[in-house]
Amino acid sequence: MKPEDLAADFRSDTLTLPDVGMRAAMGSAELGDDVFGEDPTVNQLQKKMATLAGKPAALFFPSGSMANLTALMCHVGSGGALFTGQNSHINHYELGSYARIAGLSLVAVDDSAGFLDRKDLQSKWIPDIYYMPKPALITVENTHNMLGGKVYPIQELKALCDFANEKKIPVHMDGARLFHAGAGAGRDIRDWTEHVDSVMVALSKGLGCPVGSVLLGETDFIEHARVVRKLLGGGMRQAGVLAAAGLYALEQHMPCLELDIQRCRGVFEAFGNHESLRLVPPQSNILIGQLQDPSAAELVLHLAERGVKGLAISTDRVRFVFHLNNTEIGCNALLEGLLSWTRL
Ligand SMILES: *Cc1c(COP(=O)(O)O)cnc(C)c1O
Repeated sequence: MKPEDLAADFRSDTLTLPDVGMRAAMGSAELGDDVFGEDPTVNQLQKKMATLAGKPAALFFPSGSMANLTALMCHVGSGGALFTGQNSHINHYELGSYARIAGLSLVAVDDSAGFLDRKDLQSKWIPDIYYMPKPALITVENTHNMLGGKVYPIQELKALCDFANEKKIPVHMDGARLFHAGAGAGRDIRDWTEHVDSVMVALSKGLGCPVGSVLLGETDFIEHARVVRKLLGGGMRQAGVLAAAGLYALEQHMPCLELDIQRCRGVFEAFGNHESLRLVPPQSNILIGQLQDPSAAELVLHLAERGVKGLAISTDRVRFVFHLNNTEIGCNALLEGLLSWTRL
């Protein structure tokens, strides 16, 4: 695969390939054994991420799923109920690890607006009865992947965390695309992280690294997370080759996130209004197309015939994610492909 093959590939922002500069940074990284805590590049990345997120400590992970699972296991002693969004990544795309490995029951909360509906959360809160699972943790997603990259409203997050505080329950943020939330809302990521107990941020999504996510939180929480990461098989040795990509991305790719968002908005605005296909107004780098008929597979095929790739996320919804390897020409091809569909 070459970057130019991805110019009009909007299936995901995980598809990006490391550029020459990133490969060079990986190739020249100073290394050590990270299970001994001796990889200077990993340590540097963790320190930098902790500073950016305003949290005392950080830990580098091979994946966001492992970092999320580790957070669940560290926040919760044994069993209990996890309150998460109905459409969240943790609910749908992590193979039920919250139950299979962390031993949690799940309460799905209405998140159709892109954030947890607090009335629904309160109405589903579990009373203190010995034969019912004890509320243990709340997780939120920012940006919200399946709802089109929605940015979590700060006021909503504050109110949610106040409620969690009252109940003495921690809040974890699945911030796989937190930097895109920051770029989309024109805010510092600390505006969100200051309210939550822990947060996971992915380097392998919009930031364009081949591998890696970072979990952030209090020092003792991260010390515990290091043990759980090892338990899950995530202790990596000379992981500095990967962390170097992260450091490079934080320097070089951070300013590019704006462009993803501009391009995403550009396609949305140029597309206009059509009955057969409605585009959801984007807040970051994800564009959702809502079809009138259950024809998502046909639309994906129609686009593929024009050299454009998107993802059917249900029978009547398609997703387009804008990333570093897209080009102007690729974005125009997407727009033309969508418009030609409405003319069929
Ligand atoms: C991709 C993603 C994850 C998991 O990341 P992996 O590195 O693929 O395991 C978690 N949450 C959200 C919202 C994601 O988009």
